[in-house]
Amino acid sequence: MARAFIGFGGNIGDTRQLITDAIVCLALRSELQILAKSCFYQSAPIDATGGDYINAVIEIETELTPYSLLHVCQAIEQEFGRERPYSNAPRTLDLDILSFEGVIQNETELILPHPRIIERSFVLLPLLEIAPNFFLPDLGELKTYLPKVADQRIEKLPCRNCNCWEKAVYSQSAH
Ligand code: ADP
Ligand code: MG
Repeated sequence: MARAFIGFGGNIGDTRQLITDAIVCLALRSELQILAKSCFYQSAPIDATGGDYINAVIEIETELTPYSLLHVCQAIEQEFGRERPYSNAPRTLDLDILSFEGVIQNETELILPHPRIIERSFVLLPLLEIAPNFFLPDLGELKTYLPKVADQRIEKLPCRNCNCWEKAVYSQSAH
């Protein structure tokens, strides 16, 4: 069994619902278990056209190989209407494998860890929310890269399934 992180993003349709449904699709598969799910984040498009993106990250444990997991992710993208008219086009749903325990590889079809893992606030923030001390052998602690993405607009959205929003409101009103 290996632990892996999957990043979700999209900016066409009700992305929050699409990501929720995609996570349910993953959870129904016997070859993987979902260990953690971040809140949703809304981020500005980077090198891309279209409206703001909604993003989230999950941590899973799986007996799949990295390529089998990629194919599962791509099948879900297709199921949810993903089209690729051009590079970085607006999308209903993008699933990227951010890291796969013990695997470092640079093959075009599957680069691990994901090459933009430390360059994007929409990856780093949700990932660090569920794995605050996440560490990669060649990169070190990922939280040290947060200052480098501080200029990328991103906002954590109020959660339906956890009480982090209530906690934030409570701590504001307690002051
Ligand atoms: P984006 O780079 O915006 O995520 P796509 O989702 O269309 O674009 O993916 C382009 C290609 O990236 C896919 O064909 C896939 O094989 C490849 N790829 C390489 N590494 C990864 C990874 N870690 N996770 C997901 N796809 C990857
Ligand atoms: Mg992708």
